[in-house]
Amino acid sequence: MESLAQSGVPVVGLDQVLSVRGSVALTFDDGYRNFTDVALPMLEKLQFPATLFVVSGFCGRCNEWPDQLAGAVPRLPLLPWQELVALPPSVALGAHTVTHRDLRKLAQEDCEHELFDCREEIERRTGRPVRWLAYPYGASSPQLRSLAGRHFELAVGTTLAYVSNGSDRFDLPRIDAYYLRGERSLGQIFSGSSAAYLGVRRVLRAARKRALP
Ligand SMILES: [Zn+2]
Repeated sequence: MESLAQSGVPVVGLDQVLSVRGSVALTFDDGYRNFTDVALPMLEKLQFPATLFVVSGFCGRCNEWPDQLAGAVPRLPLLPWQELVALPPSVALGAHTVTHRDLRKLAQEDCEHELFDCREEIERRTGRPVRWLAYPYGASSPQLRSLAGRHFELAVGTTLAYVSNGSDRFDLPRIDAYYLRGERSLGQIFSGSSAAYLGVRRVLRAARKRALP
C-alpha cells in the first residue's frame, strides 16, 4: 500500500474507478477481523478509501460458509456488527450475500433473498447505504448479473484483469493483491511487466478451472 501511495496512482472509491482513468479501487471481501487489525490503520494513514464486502448472516462468526471445503482456507473470525458500525466513512460497505453460497447453484428466489436481504440488513444495522455487490467466489451468470442490476449500482467478480471501457458494470474484474507483492508491488500495478505477469496468471487460472471436475 505504501508503494501504491508513492506511485501517484489515484486510489478512488469503487464507483469512481470506471470514470477516473488509471485509478485503483481497493476492495476487501468477507469482512474479516484482520481488516480492522491490519488493513485499516494503513488505509487511514495513507488516506485511501476502500470497500468492505460483508456476509450479513455471518457477522461476528467465522468464515465457515455452507459451501466452504473443509481445510481449504484458514478458519478466521469475521467482524461483528458493532465494529462495522464504527468503521470510518472512508470505508464503504458492500454486500457479499447472506450466507456466501455459490449463487449459480441456487433457485431464483433464493438468489433474491441472498442479495436483497444482505443489503437490507447491512443498511438497517449500520445506517449506511449499500450500493455494490461482490459475488461469492466471483461466480455469476447473465441471469445473476441482471438480478444484481435490480438491487445494486455495480457488482464485482474475480476475473483477473484491469477495468476497461468494455468492462461489464455488473461483473467488474479485480486483481488479487496476492499477485502483487515484493518486487512486483501494488505501486507497479499498471507497469508493462505486471500486465504481462497478470496475463499469464489469468491464463493459468482459467486452465485450472477447466481442469476441475
Ligand atoms: Zn468471499
